[in-house]
Order: sequence, then C-alpha cells, then structure tokens
Amino acid sequence: MASLYDIVIIGGGGAGLTAAIYASRANLKTLLLERLTPGGQIALTDIVENYPGFPEGITGADISMKMEEQAKKYGTVVCYEEVVVLGKKSDYFEIKTLKEIYQGKAIIIASGASFRMLGVPGEKELTGRGVSYCATCDGAFFKNKEIMVIGGGDSAIQEGLFLTRFASKVTVVHRRDKLRAGPLLQERAKSNPKINFIWDAVITAIEGSGKVERVKIKNVKTGTESDSKVDGVFIFIGHNPVTKFVEGFIELNDHGYIKTNSECETSRKGVFAAGEAREGAVRQLVAACGEGCAAALRAQAFLEE
Ligand code: NAP
Repeated sequence: MASLYDIVIIGGGGAGLTAAIYASRANLKTLLLERLTPGGQIALTDIVENYPGFPEGITGADISMKMEEQAKKYGTVVCYEEVVVLGKKSDYFEIKTLKEIYQGKAIIIASGASFRMLGVPGEKELTGRGVSYCATCDGAFFKNKEIMVIGGGDSAIQEGLFLTRFASKVTVVHRRDKLRAGPLLQERAKSNPKINFIWDAVITAIEGSGKVERVKIKNVKTGTESDSKVDGVFIFIGHNPVTKFVEGFIELNDHGYIKTNSECETSRKGVFAAGEAREGAVRQLVAACGEGCAAALRAQAFLEE
C-alpha cells in the first residue's frame, strides 16, 4: 500500500527544496519528487551571485546540493521520479509517478519551468551535436571553437560570459537592438573581447551533417538572410512552465502558469504552488525560496485546520 505523507512536494528546485526544509523541520512527514537533478534550473547555472550570504558567489551545483542535503537532514524523503498525474481521494491526494503511486494530505507544486526551444529546422536533430541549452553541461566541448548564443536576457548573457572560458569567440544573436539582461551583465558582456553581437536578428535554421556547421540568420528589419559558420549554438530564450501534469486538476492561466492567491493556494484546497510554475512569480532563486517557505507554512496551517 502506498505510504501516506503529510506533504508531497513536486519539484526539487529552490522553491521545492525550501518548502521541504520548512515542512520537515516542522516535523511533517515530507516527500519531495524531482524528475531530474536537485536544484532544478539553478543546478545548470554556472555561478549564483545574487543569493544573499554568498558575497563571492556560489556555483549552482553547490547551492543545489547543499539545499538538498539540508532538506534530507531534517527528514525529507527525496525520490527521483517524474509525476504524471494527480488525483483526489476522500481525505488525501494521490500522486502518480512513472514508477509509483504516493499519497499526501497536502501537495506543494514547485515544478518550475523548462527551457524554450527555437523551433527552427535542424534544432531538434542537432541537439547534443552542437545545439545546447546548458552552458555548464556542454561548454567544455567547445574549447577554441566559435559559438553562437541566442537570446538577450540574463540567461543568454550570463551563460555567454561563462562560455568565453572555452570558446574562441561568442556571438550573441538577439532579435532586438537592446538587451533584456540587467545592466551589470550587459556591461561585462560588452567589455569582453571574446563577445560580439548581432542585433535585430533571428536564426531561421541550424545546419550541418552530424554536427552543427552553420546557421541561417535573418535580419528582422531588412529581411536579409545570410549563412554563418559556427561550431555550437546555445539557446537561452526563456522558459515554459512545467504544468502539463496538473492540467484539469487545478486552474492554470492561458500560458499554462498555475493560478494562486497571495497565500500560494491554488484553485484546489490543500494544493499549493510556489516558484516559477506559479503565475506572477519573480524568476529569481531567492524569490523561489521565499515562495517555497510561504507555501510550506500555508500547507502546515491547512493540515492543522
Ligand atoms: P527572459 O528574461 O525571458 O529572456 C529571454 C530572451 O530571449 C529575451 O531577450 C527574448 O527577446 C529572447 N527570445 C524569446 N523568444 C525568442 C525567440 N523565439 N527567438 C529569439 N529570441 C527570443 O529569459 P531568461 O534570460 O532565461 O531569464 C529568465 C528569468 O531568470 C529572468 O527573470 C531573469 O532575470 C532570471 N535570471 C536571472 C539571472 C541573474 O540574476 N543573474 C540569471 C539568469 C536568469 P526579447 O528581449 O525581445 O523579449
């Protein structure tokens, strides 16, 4: 028979792990389910420089492992399984993963978001063969090679800067003529001799036989298209919420983000949401952790009711 937990947390990023620390420290029987690695998106980040308490910065991998260690220390059970569907029984919830069925008196959904794809020809076929969405995972394969980074946000610029450690040249291709990234990152990128920019441009195809060899670039203002030789294409164009498994179970907005009130409560009593999967979330680690804490405290109050 499936064991009954007080709180089942879905997602092991900053929000989920913080919720787990708070729930297990409150002596609640806590299960955390994560489909990939601890830390979520932050685990794939080179260095976190804006999380309070780490003036020198801390690597995404380190902070992720430390958060997981902290949650486990207080009794959280962590299972690496993908949740596929949620259901409601008379006085508990059923959480079905690809392997097991778990039961929980309350649920915190902290499933975060996954990277967005460009959707151009060649992208899927050449993923892992020069197309990547993770600089810390794949950057080292591009020693003295030429790389293109697609996007103009914080991720594109931060990861582009990281890639200059390996690549001989990093070209940032952005669809506008102004970056979305914060001023500090912009300044660092613009003063880095290995980084150059192609403005007002999009990639329309990624080509190569067996590995990335070139891309087709289109200037969105003039419509002119040209080929450019390149060894790698790193895509950082934002994220989509990971909420397919809750469709029909709780209310989502038109973009698939979970609707909550200010108490992190979703449309279903006993189900809470925190972090990037939640509508209106501030996409920063520290904010995700704050939401994880709030959701755990609300879930605790719900269980005491
Ligand atoms: P983002 O802020 O949503 O930026 C996505 C970028 O990709 C934008 O520049 C956007 O262009 C571009 N883009 C979107 N769709 C595109 C498409 N189909 N083709 C070409 N370009 C496209 O995403 P992010 O950079 O991943 O950041 C996500 C959140 O995490 C943000 O809140 C960010 O502040 C945060 N973050 C923070 C840090 C940090 O604090 N150091 C580091 C990483 C991420 P437009 O600008 O034209 O929309």
